[in-house]
This record gives sequence, C-alpha cells and structure tokens, in this order.
Amino acid sequence: MSEIVTQEGVLAWLRAFAAAVAENRAYLTDLDAAIGDADHGSNMDRGMKAVVGKLDGLDEPGGAGEPGQPSRGGIGALLKTVGMTLVSTVGGAAGPLYGTLFLQMGSAAGEAAELSPAQWAAVLEAGVKGVQARGKAELEDKTMVDALLPAAEALNAAASGLSLADALRRAAEAAERGMKATIPLVARKGRASYLGERSAGHQDPGATSSWLLMEAAAEALALDAPLDRPGT
Ligand code: ADP
Ligand code: MG
Repeated sequence: MSEIVTQEGVLAWLRAFAAAVAENRAYLTDLDAAIGDADHGSNMDRGMKAVVGKLDGLDEPGGAGEPGQPSRGGIGALLKTVGMTLVSTVGGAAGPLYGTLFLQMGSAAGEAAELSPAQWAAVLEAGVKGVQARGKAELEDKTMVDALLPAAEALNAAASGLSLADALRRAAEAAERGMKATIPLVARKGRASYLGERSAGHQDPGATSSWLLMEAAAEALALDAPLDRPGT
C-alpha cells in the first residue's frame, strides 16, 4: 500500500469508480426512478465510460503519456481531463456537478505527480467546495453533498494520523453514513425537490454515486501498482 497519492493511484481510482458505476447502473437508476427521472445510472455510466476511453488514450503510444509512464501535466491535468469529459458527456444535474468536482480537484492538485494524504484531503475539499458553489446545496438538502462533504471532512481529520488506506476507509464510511442519512430527508435541491414531502423515504441517487466514488478511493487509490486490466 502506498502512503502517498500517485498518478497511478488516481488512475486506479478512476477505473475502479467506472467499474462500480457500471456494476451499479441499474441500482442508481432505480433510486432516481423513485424521486427523479430514472437516468442517474445511465448518465454516470455514459460519463465514466467516456472517461475510461480518455484514460486509455493517454496510455497509448503517441498519447499524452508513454505506456506505464506518468502522463504529462501531473495529477491536476488528469483530473481536469476527467472533469471536462464528464461535463461534455453527462447531461442533467450530475454532469456539471461531477464535472466541477473533478475540475476543481484538478486546479487544487496542480502539476504535482505525487501528493501527501493531507494534500489529497485538501484537493478533495476544494472539489466539494466547487460542487457547493455550483449547485448551492448545503448539508441535508438531500444531494451528493451529503456524502461528499462528510467524506472530505473525515479525510482531512484522518490524513495526518492514519495510513493513507485507513484515512480513505474512514472517508468512505463517512460517505456511506451521509448517503444513508439522505433517506428521511425532504429534498431541497435538484429534481427531487419538485416532489416536496414525497421525496422523503428514498435514498438520494447522487449521494449514492458519491459514496461509490469514495468507496472506489478506499479500494484503489492507495494501491502501489495499477490494477491489471485487459489489453495490457
Ligand atoms: P438530473 O436530476 O438532471 O436527472 P441526475 O439524475 O444524473 O440528473 O442526478 C441527480 C442527482 O444530482 C441528485 O440525486 C442529487 O444528488 C444531485 N443534485 C441535483 N441537484 C443538485 C445540486 N443543486 N447540488 C448538488 N447535487 C445536486
Ligand atoms: Mg435524473
């Protein structure tokens, strides 16, 4: 397990998130069917498949980076590519919001090829602030912020005392608690807010995909080597 966040770790995280979204596509869509328009799973899956396509392109000879080598521009450039890809391929509310998350994380990460756990926590915090600036959602509005904000806070608190893997695990657990806490809430932002009181009793789809994002980080971001994947 790595004690620092590397470009390979970030790539492994993004691929793990894409796989989790694909696996949970129907689940996310079912959650959105209850309080939205039944497209969150397909939205996120389309976006993350496009992201993986971009990442594969970076690895190709003649791509931005040679195979196995860190891509030029560091972690920030990588995250910005993810954000731009999501903005251009995912419609609805989630595309611009997840796009902003990754774009702001990319700005905060800059050209660094490696980040300490505390630096990574600050990067995530900057991304979540971007989501809030864009969507104007506070805690308990029943949105992805309910998973992302507690996760960023937990990561900040744990980053200096615990191993990277343990800190990421704490963040994923905080995201899971935040996701489950959306169930009784009445939505105050997004499409679900049109339902008023009828939105209560359902788990928010965006908070659920954000939990998957944090869970993917706990599983893959601290890995030393990239996960085996077909074609390599
Ligand atoms: P749409 O609502 O346009 O169909 P999605 O279904 O892909 O888009 O995404 C819905 C999710 O987006 C919600 O479950 C919620 O978590 C999130 N969301 C919606 N509006 C906001 C907002 N203003 N701030 C933060 N998250 C939001
Ligand atoms: Mg929807």
